[in-house]
Amino acid sequence: MSKQCEFIKQNGDRCGAYAVQSSQYCINHEESMKETKQNAVAKGGSSDGYKTLNLNLEPFEIKNTSDVVIAVVQTINELRSGKLPPKLANTVGYLLGIAIKAFEVSEIDKKIEAIDRVILERKVRK
Ligand SMILES: [Zn+2]
Repeated sequence: MSKQCEFIKQNGDRCGAYAVQSSQYCINHEESMKETKQNAVAKGGSSDGYKTLNLNLEPFEIKNTSDVVIAVVQTINELRSGKLPPKLANTVGYLLGIAIKAFEVSEIDKKIEAIDRVILERKVRK
């Protein structure tokens, strides 16, 4: 079982994170772990680091939901051809999901605006 980090924060609360094995502190509060953590952050959680991959991929141009679909297909193809690491493809997929939701929301907003306008016009006419 992991212990709780014994670090006491400035507000007097105890750090809620799990302590690193063989330490009473978590990765944020254990001095000897600082370098390890900085390296992990620098690598972005990847073992090889995407900076060194030099992917050279075609940029996406995303202006509407159809562009998102094209981007998804492009990402699938890049993944399958080995141009794009699965971890990165996963992230791109996630972001494309956000993009399509954002387009959906803005479409709904436009529809609501149009409905509001119709309602208002009817009120004015009466
Ligand atoms: Zn801690």
